This record gives sequence, C-alpha cells and structure tokens, in this order.
Amino acid sequence: MTDVVRLESLRKTYGPTVTALDGVTVGFPAGSFTAVMGPSGSGKSTLLQCAAGLDRPTSGRVFIDGAELTATGDTAMTKFRRRRVGFVFQDYNLLPALTVEQNVRLPLRLAGQKPNRQTISGVLTQLGLADRRHDRPEALSGGQRQRVAVARALVTEPAVIFADEPTGALDLRSARDVLGLLRSVVDRHGRTVVMVTHDPVAASYADTVMFLADGRLAGALRTPTAAAVAERLAHLGDLVTAGGAA
Ligand code: ADP
Repeated sequence: MTDVVRLESLRKTYGPTVTALDGVTVGFPAGSFTAVMGPSGSGKSTLLQCAAGLDRPTSGRVFIDGAELTATGDTAMTKFRRRRVGFVFQDYNLLPALTVEQNVRLPLRLAGQKPNRQTISGVLTQLGLADRRHDRPEALSGGQRQRVAVARALVTEPAVIFADEPTGALDLRSARDVLGLLRSVVDRHGRTVVMVTHDPVAASYADTVMFLADGRLAGALRTPTAAAVAERLAHLGDLVTAGGAA
C-alpha cells in the first residue's frame, strides 16, 4: 500500500532543552485509520501539527501524496494544506456566524475552488445534516457540531484528515457516533484518517494505534481492542518513568 503521509526523521525542538519530537519515521497508508497515543507531553500534538503543515519541524521531512510539504515555502504550504488536508478539532472550530452549509462550503472557497451545489448537498446528506443546513452551530448539539466539522473536512476530498482529540468534548453516545463516522469515512469514502486521542475506546476504532513516548515511536498495535490499548499505555507509562522509551 502507498503511504499517503510519510514522516522522515521528524525532529522538533523548542529552545535548547525541549525535544518534542526526536526522529520519528512513519508512514500512514492510503485508506487507513491510525490513532496516535502516548502520555501527555510525548509529542502527539506536535506530530500532528508538523504532519499537517500547521507547524514546521526543526529537521526531517513530511510528504503528503508524494509531495514534500517541508520543501515548500509558507504560502505554498498553506495552499497545499487547504486543498489536500482536512482537519477535525476537539472544539469543532466552526464559525458561529455561518450556517451549517456555509461552514461546510468554506474550505472550498478558501482553496479557491468553486463550491459545487451537488457536492455540498451530497456531503450534508451522507452525514445526516441535510435538514440542519440552514441552522447555525449554536442550534446544534456537540455531536452534531462535530458531524459538521467532519463534513467540512471531507468536502475538499483531501488526501488525509487529521483529527485532534475529536471526541474530547463529547458525551459517550456522541463520541461513538463521531468515531463511527470517522470509521465510515475510511471504509466507505476510502479516506485516510490520523487521529490523536488519549481514549483507548476511541483508539479501538482505528486499524492501527501508534504509540509515542518522549518524542519517539514506541511501537504499534494492529486491530486494537480498548483493553489491549489501555494495557500498552500503562506499560508505556512505566517505560517513561523508568527513563527509557522502547
Ligand atoms: P502531547 O500532545 O503528547 O501532550 P506535545 O506535542 O503537546 O505533547 O508536547 C511535546 C513536548 O513539547 C512537551 O514537553 C511540551 O511541553 C513541549 N512543547 C509543545 N509545544 C511547545 C511550545 N510551543 N513551546 C515550548 N515547548 C512546547
């Protein structure tokens, strides 16, 4: 399988003392759902930000769809990101003054693409939002808002969708709903999803869990169960406390 996202020797330091990422090399195959887990401060957010082109690594390379993101200037990077990368954030990041439909349409406008009425309608219908299209986010529940965020992430048909704790602000039922939705984004739409989470149940929706400890890769778990993930996480904690990541 081809890797849609490839990170090579990714390093990110803050000042002389903090190493957030310490040489991470990993690929995310097309049509896969990967969860990124690890203790607080292990570099998960930094990895996502660098992989998505929202931040630059100190050294190392990021490839998306074979194009080297790290080789481009800031303007080209923003342009590329708008066309090829989708985002889902913990706090939805919807614009409160815009309707559901306008929020979903926004990435197309920003990417300089002409919003196609059928594309927008199609995405809204697939995500069960057709009858909410004229509502503003404040009229929706948390789970519905996150649905809108997923619709917005899908609309440009991006190479990859990065999700940062997408269920962190949701109740159990809405969380399951959104995770099922991300799963179907991969299974039915053939998209690639990379999700940072601290929740083993959320991670169990992924095909693979990738663990980070102290800014380094600390193993992976395929077809994860929540119990297996929780156990591995506890073990990672031991490793970090003992001062040596695997
Ligand atoms: P995680 O998402 O796993 O909690 P982060 O990627 O947020 O980890 O952080 C990794 C390390 O980098 C931590 O030690 C954190 O304190 C540090 N860090 C992250 N962002 C900054 C920043 N802007 N300035 C300084 N240190 C940072």
